[in-house]
Amino acid sequence: MAPQRKLAAGNWKMNGLSGQLSEIDALVGSHADAGCEILICPPATLIAPMADRADGRIAVGGQDCHAEAKGAHTGDLSAAMLKDAGATYVITGHSERRADHGESDAVVRAKTEAAWEAGLAAIVCIGETLDQREADETIAVIDAQLGGSIPDGATGENLVIAYEPVWAIGTGKVPTIDQIAEVHDHIRKTLADRFGEGTAQDVRLLYGGSVKPDNAKEIFAVDNVDGALVGGASLKAADFGGIIEALDG
Ligand code: PEP
Repeated sequence: MAPQRKLAAGNWKMNGLSGQLSEIDALVGSHADAGCEILICPPATLIAPMADRADGRIAVGGQDCHAEAKGAHTGDLSAAMLKDAGATYVITGHSERRADHGESDAVVRAKTEAAWEAGLAAIVCIGETLDQREADETIAVIDAQLGGSIPDGATGENLVIAYEPVWAIGTGKVPTIDQIAEVHDHIRKTLADRFGEGTAQDVRLLYGGSVKPDNAKEIFAVDNVDGALVGGASLKAADFGGIIEALDG
Protein backbone atom coordinates (compact mmCIF):
# COMPACT_ATOMS: atom_id res chain seq x y z
CA MET A 1 0.00 0.00 0.00
CA ALA A 2 1.21 3.53 -0.80
CA PRO A 3 2.09 5.54 2.31
CA GLN A 4 -1.01 7.16 3.73
CA ARG A 5 -1.35 10.92 3.51
CA LYS A 6 -1.37 12.73 6.84
CA LEU A 7 -4.87 13.66 7.96
CA ALA A 8 -6.24 16.96 9.26
CA ALA A 9 -9.71 16.10 10.55
CA GLY A 10 -12.19 18.64 11.91
CA ASN A 11 -15.05 17.74 14.23
CA TRP A 12 -17.69 20.47 14.24
CA LYS A 13 -19.68 18.69 16.99
CA MET A 14 -23.12 20.33 17.44
CA ASN A 15 -22.10 23.53 15.68
CA GLY A 16 -23.01 24.81 12.26
CA LEU A 17 -26.05 25.90 10.28
CA SER A 18 -26.16 26.20 6.53
CA GLY A 19 -24.66 29.72 6.75
CA GLN A 20 -21.40 28.15 7.99
CA LEU A 21 -20.94 26.30 4.71
CA SER A 22 -19.11 29.42 3.54
CA GLU A 23 -16.23 28.18 5.74
CA ILE A 24 -16.00 25.14 3.48
CA ASP A 25 -15.90 27.33 0.40
CA ALA A 26 -13.06 29.26 2.03
CA LEU A 27 -11.21 26.08 3.02
CA VAL A 28 -11.55 24.55 -0.42
CA GLY A 29 -10.49 27.84 -1.99
CA SER A 30 -7.34 28.12 0.10
CA HIS A 31 -6.31 24.51 0.77
CA ALA A 32 -7.73 22.15 -1.87
CA ASP A 33 -4.19 21.37 -3.06
CA ALA A 34 -2.78 20.66 0.43
CA GLY A 35 -0.39 17.73 0.75
CA CYS A 36 -2.35 16.24 3.62
CA GLU A 37 -5.87 14.88 3.44
CA ILE A 38 -8.51 17.24 4.84
CA LEU A 39 -11.70 15.99 6.44
CA ILE A 40 -14.58 17.86 8.08
CA CYS A 41 -17.19 16.04 10.18
CA PRO A 42 -20.10 18.47 10.41
CA PRO A 43 -23.47 17.87 12.08
CA ALA A 44 -25.36 15.23 10.07
CA THR A 45 -27.69 17.92 8.69
CA LEU A 46 -24.78 19.46 6.79
CA ILE A 47 -23.13 16.32 5.39
CA ALA A 48 -24.97 16.34 2.05
CA PRO A 49 -24.66 20.07 1.27
CA MET A 50 -21.05 20.10 2.47
CA ALA A 51 -20.12 17.08 0.33
CA ASP A 52 -21.84 18.76 -2.59
CA ARG A 53 -19.83 21.96 -2.13
CA ALA A 54 -16.55 20.20 -1.45
CA ASP A 55 -16.99 18.03 -4.55
CA GLY A 56 -14.28 15.59 -3.48
CA ARG A 57 -11.67 18.31 -2.83
CA ILE A 58 -11.97 17.73 0.88
CA ALA A 59 -13.55 14.70 2.56
CA VAL A 60 -16.72 14.84 4.66
CA GLY A 61 -17.57 12.54 7.57
CA GLY A 62 -20.17 11.77 10.21
CA GLN A 63 -19.65 12.16 13.95
CA ASP A 64 -21.40 8.93 14.96
CA CYS A 65 -23.44 6.08 13.48
CA HIS A 66 -25.74 3.39 14.80
CA ALA A 67 -24.36 -0.13 15.16
CA GLU A 68 -27.18 -1.61 13.12
CA ALA A 69 -27.80 -1.18 9.42
CA LYS A 70 -31.48 -0.21 9.77
CA GLY A 71 -34.49 -0.60 12.03
CA ALA A 72 -36.62 0.96 14.73
CA HIS A 73 -34.10 3.42 16.20
CA THR A 74 -35.80 6.79 16.18
CA GLY A 75 -33.41 9.66 15.66
CA ASP A 76 -30.41 7.50 14.82
CA LEU A 77 -28.49 7.28 11.55
CA SER A 78 -26.91 4.22 10.00
CA ALA A 79 -23.46 4.24 8.47
CA ALA A 80 -25.03 3.57 5.05
CA MET A 81 -27.15 6.73 5.46
CA LEU A 82 -24.03 8.79 6.14
CA LYS A 83 -22.37 7.28 3.09
CA ASP A 84 -25.46 7.94 1.01
CA ALA A 85 -25.30 11.60 2.07
CA GLY A 86 -21.68 11.88 0.89
CA ALA A 87 -19.59 10.85 3.92
CA THR A 88 -16.48 8.73 3.51
CA TYR A 89 -15.50 8.68 7.21
CA VAL A 90 -17.28 8.45 10.54
CA ILE A 91 -15.98 9.16 14.05
CA THR A 92 -16.74 6.39 16.54
CA GLY A 93 -16.24 6.44 20.30
CA HIS A 94 -15.64 10.16 20.73
CA SER A 95 -15.33 10.79 24.46
CA GLU A 96 -18.40 13.03 24.36
CA ARG A 97 -20.42 10.06 23.02
CA ARG A 98 -18.83 7.71 25.54
CA ALA A 99 -19.72 10.14 28.37
CA ASP A 100 -23.06 11.61 27.21
CA HIS A 101 -24.52 8.40 25.75
CA GLY A 102 -22.80 5.76 27.89
CA GLU A 103 -21.07 4.15 24.91
CA SER A 104 -18.93 1.22 26.02
CA ASP A 105 -15.98 -0.19 24.11
CA ALA A 106 -18.27 -2.98 22.88
CA VAL A 107 -20.70 -0.42 21.44
CA VAL A 108 -17.84 1.49 19.81
CA ARG A 109 -16.56 -1.75 18.30
CA ALA A 110 -20.02 -2.60 16.91
CA LYS A 111 -20.35 0.91 15.43
CA THR A 112 -16.90 0.61 13.87
CA GLU A 113 -17.88 -2.73 12.32
CA ALA A 114 -21.06 -1.12 10.99
CA ALA A 115 -19.01 1.70 9.47
CA TRP A 116 -16.74 -0.80 7.69
CA GLU A 117 -19.74 -2.80 6.51
CA ALA A 118 -21.11 0.35 4.86
CA GLY A 119 -17.76 1.21 3.29
CA LEU A 120 -16.81 4.07 5.59
CA ALA A 121 -13.44 4.50 7.26
CA ALA A 122 -13.77 4.83 11.05
CA ILE A 123 -11.87 7.27 13.23
CA VAL A 124 -11.93 5.49 16.57
CA CYS A 125 -11.31 7.81 19.54
CA ILE A 126 -9.57 6.69 22.70
CA GLY A 127 -8.12 8.59 25.66
CA GLU A 128 -7.90 8.82 29.40
CA THR A 129 -9.64 11.14 31.86
CA LEU A 130 -7.65 13.41 34.15
CA ASP A 131 -8.32 11.13 37.13
CA GLN A 132 -7.00 8.15 35.15
CA ARG A 133 -3.87 10.04 34.14
CA GLU A 134 -3.24 11.19 37.69
CA ALA A 135 -3.69 7.61 38.90
CA ASP A 136 -1.06 6.49 36.37
CA GLU A 137 -3.61 4.44 34.48
CA THR A 138 -3.22 6.02 31.03
CA ILE A 139 -1.58 3.06 29.30
CA ALA A 140 -3.97 0.58 30.92
CA VAL A 141 -6.94 2.66 29.72
CA ILE A 142 -5.51 2.90 26.21
CA ASP A 143 -4.95 -0.88 26.15
CA ALA A 144 -8.51 -1.58 27.27
CA GLN A 145 -10.01 0.85 24.75
CA LEU A 146 -7.85 -0.40 21.87
CA GLY A 147 -8.59 -4.04 22.68
CA GLY A 148 -12.31 -3.42 23.18
CA SER A 149 -13.12 -0.83 20.50
CA ILE A 150 -11.17 -2.01 17.45
CA PRO A 151 -12.69 -4.94 15.55
CA ASP A 152 -10.64 -7.60 13.79
CA GLY A 153 -9.91 -6.78 10.17
CA ALA A 154 -8.37 -3.33 10.63
CA THR A 155 -6.40 -1.90 7.70
CA GLY A 156 -4.75 1.40 6.94
CA GLU A 157 -7.73 2.23 4.76
CA ASN A 158 -10.61 1.45 7.10
CA LEU A 159 -9.13 2.61 10.42
CA VAL A 160 -7.75 5.83 11.86
CA ILE A 161 -7.13 6.11 15.59
CA ALA A 162 -7.44 9.41 17.43
CA TYR A 163 -5.71 9.68 20.80
CA GLU A 164 -7.70 12.32 22.63
CA PRO A 165 -7.01 12.78 26.34
CA VAL A 166 -10.45 13.71 27.69
CA TRP A 167 -8.95 16.44 29.88
CA ALA A 168 -7.41 18.15 26.82
CA ILE A 169 -10.62 18.39 24.78
CA GLY A 170 -11.93 21.94 24.62
CA THR A 171 -9.91 22.99 27.66
CA GLY A 172 -6.84 24.63 26.14
CA LYS A 173 -4.71 22.09 28.06
CA VAL A 174 -2.34 19.96 26.01
CA PRO A 175 -0.23 17.01 27.20
CA THR A 176 3.52 17.39 27.08
CA ILE A 177 5.29 16.28 23.94
CA ASP A 178 6.70 13.31 25.92
CA GLN A 179 3.22 12.29 27.04
CA ILE A 180 1.89 12.40 23.46
CA ALA A 181 4.93 10.48 22.20
CA GLU A 182 4.59 7.78 24.86
CA VAL A 183 0.94 7.07 24.05
CA HIS A 184 1.36 7.21 20.27
CA ASP A 185 4.37 4.85 20.41
CA HIS A 186 2.37 2.51 22.57
CA ILE A 187 -0.61 2.54 20.20
CA ARG A 188 1.66 1.80 17.21
CA LYS A 189 3.30 -1.12 19.03
CA THR A 190 -0.04 -2.50 20.19
CA LEU A 191 -1.39 -2.39 16.64
CA ALA A 192 1.73 -4.17 15.40
CA ASP A 193 1.28 -6.96 17.96
CA ARG A 194 -2.31 -7.49 16.90
CA PHE A 195 -2.41 -6.70 13.18
CA GLY A 196 1.22 -6.96 12.06
CA GLU A 197 3.86 -4.32 11.44
CA GLY A 198 2.64 -3.35 7.95
CA THR A 199 -0.91 -2.57 9.05
CA ALA A 200 0.34 -0.81 12.18
CA GLN A 201 2.41 1.54 10.03
CA ASP A 202 -0.49 2.15 7.63
CA VAL A 203 -3.08 3.10 10.27
CA ARG A 204 -2.92 6.84 10.86
CA LEU A 205 -2.66 7.96 14.47
CA LEU A 206 -4.14 11.39 15.15
CA TYR A 207 -3.64 13.50 18.24
CA GLY A 208 -6.72 15.41 19.43
CA GLY A 209 -7.26 17.89 22.25
CA SER A 210 -6.90 21.69 22.01
CA VAL A 211 -4.84 21.63 18.80
CA LYS A 212 -4.53 25.22 17.52
CA PRO A 213 -2.50 26.87 14.77
CA ASP A 214 0.09 27.99 17.34
CA ASN A 215 0.78 24.56 18.91
CA ALA A 216 0.23 22.33 15.87
CA LYS A 217 3.77 22.37 14.52
CA GLU A 218 5.26 21.13 17.77
CA ILE A 219 2.67 18.35 18.06
CA PHE A 220 3.11 17.24 14.44
CA ALA A 221 6.86 16.91 14.98
CA VAL A 222 6.22 14.06 17.45
CA ASP A 223 7.00 10.55 16.15
CA ASN A 224 3.92 8.52 15.28
CA VAL A 225 1.63 11.56 15.05
CA ASP A 226 0.08 11.40 11.58
CA GLY A 227 -2.31 14.30 11.92
CA ALA A 228 -4.93 15.75 14.24
CA LEU A 229 -8.58 15.57 15.17
CA VAL A 230 -9.57 19.16 15.84
CA GLY A 231 -12.73 20.49 17.47
CA GLY A 232 -12.98 24.23 18.14
CA ALA A 233 -10.21 25.29 15.77
CA SER A 234 -11.83 23.50 12.83
CA LEU A 235 -14.87 25.79 12.77
CA LYS A 236 -13.11 28.66 11.02
CA ALA A 237 -11.27 28.08 7.76
CA ALA A 238 -8.57 30.54 8.80
CA ASP A 239 -7.72 28.59 12.00
CA PHE A 240 -8.01 25.16 10.45
CA GLY A 241 -5.93 26.37 7.52
CA GLY A 242 -3.10 27.20 9.94
CA ILE A 243 -3.23 23.64 11.29
CA ILE A 244 -3.24 22.18 7.77
CA GLU A 245 -0.19 24.26 6.88
CA ALA A 246 1.60 23.06 10.03
CA LEU A 247 0.84 19.45 9.06
CA ASP A 248 2.10 20.00 5.53
CA GLY A 249 5.30 21.36 7.07
C1 PEP B 1 -12.51 16.98 19.76
O1 PEP B 1 -13.65 17.23 20.09
O2 PEP B 1 -12.28 15.92 19.18
C2 PEP B 1 -11.46 17.94 20.05
C3 PEP B 1 -10.22 17.57 19.93
O3 PEP B 1 -11.86 19.20 20.45
P1 PEP B 1 -10.90 20.48 20.70
O4 PEP B 1 -9.95 20.57 19.53
O5 PEP B 1 -11.87 21.65 20.73
O6 PEP B 1 -10.19 20.27 21.97
